[in-house]
Amino acid sequence: MTKALYLEDSYLKEAEANVVSVKDGKFVILDKTIFYPNGGGQPYDTGKIVRDTEAFNVVYVGKFSGEISHEVDHAGLQAGDKVRLVLNWERRYKLMRSHTAAHVVASLLNQGTGALITGNQLDLDHVRFDFNLEQFDRTVLETYLNKANMLFCTDVLVKWYDLPREEAMKIPGVVKMAGAFPPNLPVLRIVEIVGVDKQADGGTHVKNLREVGQVQLLKTENKGKNNRRIYFRLT
Ligand SMILES: [Zn+2]
Repeated sequence: MTKALYLEDSYLKEAEANVVSVKDGKFVILDKTIFYPNGGGQPYDTGKIVRDTEAFNVVYVGKFSGEISHEVDHAGLQAGDKVRLVLNWERRYKLMRSHTAAHVVASLLNQGTGALITGNQLDLDHVRFDFNLEQFDRTVLETYLNKANMLFCTDVLVKWYDLPREEAMKIPGVVKMAGAFPPNLPVLRIVEIVGVDKQADGGTHVKNLREVGQVQLLKTENKGKNNRRIYFRLT
């Protein structure tokens, strides 16, 4: 199993690793990685895997049968190679800021209206949210984003840690995704925005809400009672 270093330290921009196996020349398994694989609404990381002076660009990272696979742009890496991992930090940091912002907005909406999230996707230029809500009014949504923006002006810490499943499931609202249950694991990773939200989550986050900056509502779409959609972005 690849050690997922990003789960402990989301700020790791470089690391040393060993190539465990390579499939079809381009799909690389490492003993440890700083690259986040596509999933949970958060896009994959990019960057490069460097062996000596040769750089292999990481063009996609996915999780297949529990293994994190790094797709590189050309063949050449081999099992046993010692490599240096370099993250495209600008891309990742934006996704971290967006991901933490998404949790804050979801939490405020959930606390204020009881709405559950029915879908969400982070993108580089926006965050998309679907939720179920009786009353769907742009000005109401604006007030939640304003509340979120006030929080993003304060020093609120964000922490992540593992909890035994049984204990984690006692946290109110630990799962805000409608119909979703966390994977059947004995231990769940909790992302806690202190005083704001606790959520079972496998994504990468910033450590302080000030790092988010501010968010802005882009557009709303009414796709039916159980599928209100909003788009917002970091400013
Ligand atoms: Zn999340």
